[in-house]
Formats: sequence, structure tokens, C-alpha cells
Amino acid sequence: MTAPHAATVIDGKAFAARVRGQVQAHVAQLAAQGIVPGLAVVLVGEDPASQVYVRNKGTQTVEVGMASFEHKLDAATSEADLLDLIRQLNADPAVHGILVQLPLPGHLNSDLIINSIDPAKDVDGFHISNVGLLGTGQKSLVPCTPLGCLMMLRDHHGSLAGMNAVVVGRSNIVGKPMAQLLLGDSCTVTIAHSRTRDLAAVCRGADILVAAVGRAEMITGDMVRPGATVIDVGINRVERDGRTRLVGDVHYASAAAVAGAITPVPGGVGPMTIACLLANTLTACCRAHGLPVPEGLTA
Ligand code: NDP
Repeated sequence: MTAPHAATVIDGKAFAARVRGQVQAHVAQLAAQGIVPGLAVVLVGEDPASQVYVRNKGTQTVEVGMASFEHKLDAATSEADLLDLIRQLNADPAVHGILVQLPLPGHLNSDLIINSIDPAKDVDGFHISNVGLLGTGQKSLVPCTPLGCLMMLRDHHGSLAGMNAVVVGRSNIVGKPMAQLLLGDSCTVTIAHSRTRDLAAVCRGADILVAAVGRAEMITGDMVRPGATVIDVGINRVERDGRTRLVGDVHYASAAAVAGAITPVPGGVGPMTIACLLANTLTACCRAHGLPVPEGLTA
């Protein structure tokens, strides 16, 4: 009898620890030159999930030797006051990266706020200038979650050139930049979305399948080509057996039975996102000082 197929599990937690280690080593080298990379995180309001993210970002920033500046503003903060804070951060030489935690309260115009950040400090990569630079294959700051996915794929495969990649989801923060990055690495890229016809058949064409849908366990094993690499970006909270569990957009058990490699949830893409935020802050700091950007930490 042949042994059941076992996909390689791509361990995002271990990979993220490696990336943080690389960042920390470079930060130590900068410290010897009197340079301390600084990350400012702005949180408006008291959304509990956002508070947890901001706390984790602050802790990890300090752990790698960077300076962390947290700005917690009241939910009723006016657009003018928020813009004023961003102007101050743009002008502050101790701040190399600025992140405004999304979502913002409804009375604030997110596009206006994000586009007021100095693009050279836009470590989330959401400023329209960075979106344009990525789209035209120029040096930019790249959104953290897709950057983390790209790093894991490069690590697993080496070159991605010529591979068929299918990205399910076309959001501005994950799907579209992910597709651009894969195109930049010479994949043949298909972007699928809620209007795609015969999604299963499209997915089965993928050597690399990235799920960024926001629907628990929607991508099942029958949609995965045998041997494909599956990257699950989804984070969904579901009630199961009376407990709240985190699951991805991929049905892990059935997909892992056919995939060649797969990222788990939790412990896959999630931990890479903050690691890439730190990498982007280091990149922004090096560029601000006219220093070379460390290899392997950018797109
Ligand atoms: P959005 O809701 O912004 O986008 C979801 C996309 O999925 C849309 O393009 C939508 O298509 C598409 N979609 C929805 N239903 C279907 C369907 N039935 N078939 C095919 N496509 C469908 O989500 P995000 O991109 O912001 O996030 C995606 C997932 O990634 C979420 O689970 C989120 O929690 C997670 N996430 C994880 C991060 C991490 O650090 N690991 C960071 C960011 C997000 P259409 O455009 O047609 O509506």
C-alpha cells in the first residue's frame, strides 16, 4: 500500500522569526552608525482587533531594536487633526515608517488620509504612488501581506518564472498587489473574484494558488491541482464544537491531501505580515539615509 500523500507545510511562524532575525541584525549594523529606524503607528478609535494588532506591531518593533511611536487618537478625531499629525510624522527625521491602522472610523476618508503619508514612509504600501510604482515594476514599498507570501514562495521554489499563478481575490491590499508581485517574478497570472466563471476549473490550472477571499474554507481539495503550492491568506473566525477557531480561506485537510506545499492557518501568512512591516521600515530607513537596502527583504 502506498503511504498517503503529505504536502510540505510552509511554516510561516518559523520563516517570520528568520526575517525578524535578519532585520534585527541589520538594525544593529545601523545602530553602529548612529541610525535607529523608527516606525510610527496611528490608531484612531478602540476597535479591539486593531488594538491587538497595534500592540503586537509595537512589541515586535522594539524587539528588533527599532524605535516605536504609537499615536492613539479618540474615535471622534477630526480629519484635520489626523492630517496634521501625519504632516508632523512626515517631517520627523526619527520616523522612517508611518502606518495608519485600518479600518478608520466612517467619518474619515481613508484614501485621503493614506495619500497624505509621505510615499517614502508608507510602509503599508497603500499610497497611490507606491501602487503605481509596483504596477510599473519600479522600486516601491510593497504591501506587507503579499510581500510575505512572495518571500515564502521564493524560499520554497527559488525561481517562480513561467509558473501559472491564480490569485483568488482582487482587493487593493492583498489580491491586486499579490498578482503584480507574481507578474514581476514572471508568473503567468490569473486573478479570480466573485464573478469568475467556474472558479474550480480556474484554480485547478494553478501551480501557485493564493486564496485571499475572506470566506472560511471555500477553496477545497478538488479545486487544487496535484502538487500545487497553496498560500492561504484568509483569517476567519468560526464557531466549532462550542469554541471560536481561526480557519483560512482554504479547506486545509482536503487541500493538503493533494497540494505539494501549503501554508497553515494560523501559523502561515499571518506571522509574515508584521515581519514584512519591519522589513519595510528597515528598507525605508536605508533609502532615507542613502544606504543599500538589505537583500532578500524587498520585492
Ligand atoms: P476583501 O473582502 O477586500 O476581498 C475579498 C475578495 O474575494 C474580493 O475581491 C471578492 O471578489 C473575492 N470573493 C469573495 N467571494 C468570492 C467567491 N465566492 N468566489 C471568488 N471570489 C470571491 O478581503 P481582503 O483581500 O482584505 O482579505 C481577504 C482575506 O485575507 C480575509 O480573510 C482577511 O481576513 C485576510 N487577510 C489576512 C491578512 C494577514 O495578515 N494574513 C491581511 C489582510 C487580509 P469581488 O471583488 O468580486 O467582490
